Amino acid sequence: MNFFGRAVLGVTHQKLVRNLITDTRPGRALSRRFVAGETLDEAITAAVDLNAKGASVSLDHLGEHVADRTQAIAARDDYLACLDAIGRHDIDGNISVKLSQLGMGFDDALAAKSLDALARRALDVGTTVSVDMEESAVTGLTIDIYSGAQRAHGNLGLAVQSYLHRTRQDLDTIIPLGGHVRLCKGAYAEPEDVAYQSRAEVDSSFDRLTHLLMSDPDVKPAIASHDADRLEVARRLAAGRSGPYEYQMLYGVRTALQDQMLAAAEPLRVYVPYGVAWYPYLTRRMAERPANVTFFLRAAFRG
Ligand SMILES: Cc1cc2nc3c(=O)[nH]c(=O)nc-3n(C[C@H](O)[C@H](O)[C@H](O)COP(=O)(O)OP(=O)(O)OC[C@H]3O[C@@H](n4cnc5c(N)ncnc54)[C@H](O)[C@@H]3O)c2cc1C
Repeated sequence: MNFFGRAVLGVTHQKLVRNLITDTRPGRALSRRFVAGETLDEAITAAVDLNAKGASVSLDHLGEHVADRTQAIAARDDYLACLDAIGRHDIDGNISVKLSQLGMGFDDALAAKSLDALARRALDVGTTVSVDMEESAVTGLTIDIYSGAQRAHGNLGLAVQSYLHRTRQDLDTIIPLGGHVRLCKGAYAEPEDVAYQSRAEVDSSFDRLTHLLMSDPDVKPAIASHDADRLEVARRLAAGRSGPYEYQMLYGVRTALQDQMLAAAEPLRVYVPYGVAWYPYLTRRMAERPANVTFFLRAAFRG
């Protein structure tokens, strides 16, 4: 992550700034560009619209680093309700989960048990569970918990981050498990001993990992990026690929490009976040792009 991104994440951790964004109209307006709504019904409406355009979806009930068991169990139950809604509305989609939302960090066994419950319910409704990748401090633990659930149920997938030095080696553990693998650049501020710092290094790692995943017919790669150059590399490899693959993009980001890809019948899944706990997700989207911060500041000063 560059200097700008780190600065944004640093500033947005301040309580005053958080209140300025969560309690004001410009802040909530910015959140609505990237978040489908605060309720499951709103997320399902967005999913139905995206399915109608030809995109599959991954529903993310926002929340991370919950504080206690009660919150972790509530998060699991919200996801069970989300899976039931996917089944009831016949949505072409799955769920994306952060293990820290299910208790990883203070009760790893609970997080593993909840992931098991989600995988079982997903099997009942004929879908899958994607596990998001969080900060590097929990990469190993995330892979361990994911591996247990994937071995038991076989219907999960995991995100990996091209900015981490360790990812190439982690794929030697992850690929044989057979789940889908979402390749993204990585959205957290990480130190240089664990992560590439320059854009060029992160991009070139992304291309190498795209090559590795797209050349293996037994893995289902999901190339998760809005970066035209990265997508072009993936497209060239897709042309000669026999196995399944897809592209993934975030709700509200580069929507014109999403429409173009759907018009060209490219396989696209849109990650649809929803829920009241949207603040940390929004700060990462602001850190990725100066224009998102400018949008907020302009609206705030106008207001
Ligand atoms: C489906 C999906 C799932 C993800 N899951 C994870 C995860 O589990 N763990 C994790 O660490 N990260 C995750 N990410 C985030 C990812 O790591 C990057 O931070 C993010 O996608 C931006 O990188 P980029 O590849 O789009 O390239 P960039 O070089 O950042 O962006 C390329 C272009 O896309 C546009 N763009 C990118 N971001 C924004 C934005 N916020 N607002 C407006 N325009 C933008 C801009 O035009 C930019 O020039 C996910 C991303 C996607 C698409």
